[in-house]
Amino acid sequence: MIKLTVIGECSGAPLASHATSCYLVEGESTSLILDMGSASLSLLKVIRSFDGIEHVVVSHFHPDHSADCAVAVYDRLIAMQCGRDVKPLVFHALEERDLTLPPYSGFVKIDECSREEIGEFSISYMKSEHPVDCLAVKVQDRDGHTLVYTADGALTDRLVSFSSGADILIAECSFYPDMGNGGAGHMNANDVCTLAVKAEPDCLVLSHLPVYGDRGIISDYVRKRYEKGKVLLASPYLEVSI
Ligand SMILES: [Zn+2]
Repeated sequence: MIKLTVIGECSGAPLASHATSCYLVEGESTSLILDMGSASLSLLKVIRSFDGIEHVVVSHFHPDHSADCAVAVYDRLIAMQCGRDVKPLVFHALEERDLTLPPYSGFVKIDECSREEIGEFSISYMKSEHPVDCLAVKVQDRDGHTLVYTADGALTDRLVSFSSGADILIAECSFYPDMGNGGAGHMNANDVCTLAVKAEPDCLVLSHLPVYGDRGIISDYVRKRYEKGKVLLASPYLEVSI
């Protein structure tokens, strides 16, 4: 079983009462977080105690994916110093940066060749096409259920192949269909349609969304062009289970 809860779906900067990239992924006995963008810790705490979270995977170090990581370390420091029953936070990331603060937090270096077992989940990675090093993430449970998170990255054949057959595909959609894709390193709604048609996810979650305009335009546009699976527009606390 994999249960996805969207915590933050904004690209760039958070809207009021929203956060940038953050996804809670839960199984029968394992919880992990994919990315901790700005404002995500606060939004997460509305629905979960952060004390129960041990693993955070960081796709890359743009602030809309990593800004709250350092904040999360302080949160764990406070929890441990208050004597609460918590484990050190473990960050899985391309670089250590300022994530490691023993005994409150530790660091596991990952790259696109890494294969990790985190509780009941198997995790693999793919280097995406982005201005800084960035990893797309695949989470599989023991029954073969698969969640793929594109993180940030342009549409490439490798991303299509990495995403193929996912039960849940969290696809970044940084731009409206009538906009470009920012030159390189992101997808617009057109790119996401192409990715979905080729990868055929059961459930496509449109996320990393613009923080201006009417996001309903994006979901309407994609639903007209991808009909093989469910298309959901990410919003705080959206849940999908497989
Ligand atoms: Zn980025």
